[in-house]
Amino acid sequence: MFRPIRTVWPIRALILAAGLTVGCGRRELARQTWPAMGTVAGVTVPGRAENHLPAYAELARETVREMEGRLSQFNPDGVISMLNRQAGGDSVVLDPDTLHVLALSLHYARVSRGAFDPTASPLVRLWGFHGGAPRATPPTPAEIRDALSTAGYSHVVLNEETREARLALPGMKVDLGGIAKGYAVDAVSAKLKAMGATDFMVNLAGDMRCFGEPSKGKPWRIGVRNPFNTAEIVGVLHLTDGWAVSTSGHYERFVEIEGTRYAHILDPRTGYPVAGMAGVTVVATNATLSDALSTALFVLGPDQALSVLRETEGCDALFIPDRLPLELWITPELQRRFVPDRDWVDAVRVLDL
Ligand code: ADP
Ligand code: MG
Repeated sequence: MFRPIRTVWPIRALILAAGLTVGCGRRELARQTWPAMGTVAGVTVPGRAENHLPAYAELARETVREMEGRLSQFNPDGVISMLNRQAGGDSVVLDPDTLHVLALSLHYARVSRGAFDPTASPLVRLWGFHGGAPRATPPTPAEIRDALSTAGYSHVVLNEETREARLALPGMKVDLGGIAKGYAVDAVSAKLKAMGATDFMVNLAGDMRCFGEPSKGKPWRIGVRNPFNTAEIVGVLHLTDGWAVSTSGHYERFVEIEGTRYAHILDPRTGYPVAGMAGVTVVATNATLSDALSTALFVLGPDQALSVLRETEGCDALFIPDRLPLELWITPELQRRFVPDRDWVDAVRVLDL
């Protein structure tokens, strides 16, 4: 779930601040980063709060490690591995965090009508997104049918009262890779707030959450990368008050089979990797929601996503279709938080929600 396909660090959005480079005088922002969940985690605070940073980063590191241990399907001792091993058999009692993430992932699976599916793992594995040697040829339709027959969120049986979970089909597997990083960001945020932190940003590569202000009267500024030229940004998001942002893109994690690139997000309804989207950025009131929905909306694309966006409170999106010239499709409310780069002002289109 958290294994990087390549050894790149998939930072899909970047924090914009001159102060990030160590230089003369007091730094505007202070940041600590460390490798976690197959990517890079980080905590950023205003320069004036730099003395708190080591304690914040330590708590964040511990929390992320704990979440990874619980939620990763690659930890053989974790509860998700146990659940997966027992697929088709007995139920497993989950700890409260895992129960909560699994319940939320089933909720988003229903909301997105299966575009987000925490049981897409056999497909993810079939296409070679779990690492190892790349496939020489794409899977055959028979292999895809086979993998689809062991997937489907409706076969996850969850009893929230007894905290028991069971996978009804033998060979089924739960993969929380599309939501766990967001959940970990929320868990870190809650702990930092409980510790008294007011102005900070938590970052797990493509998933971030911002509180307070980096400097008086200023929001946190998060750059959204251009999927066609990742050295460049298409615009800046202005976030504060606990808002979160997640990006799912076709440009950081992919496999190449017979010269064709396949993005690491699968359409669980067809069994094929998603084609047509270059990037989807979701801004939401928490990072679990932004993470799950960025994956779901990447599958759905702007047209099919409209009903999901209408039904989901506290959630806005920016879609970049996989075609040139570049287009930036945004939800109406996002106009308040997204400032396109000068070069891309004319590329903005507002969705009719
Ligand atoms: P990343 O993990 O790169 O941040 P996402 O948050 O979009 O990107 O999640 C992608 C991961 O989610 C994949 O690596 C895979 O483990 C899993 N996944 C792939 N397709 C789906 C899907 N349709 N629904 C839920 N999870 C998925
Ligand atoms: Mg996601």
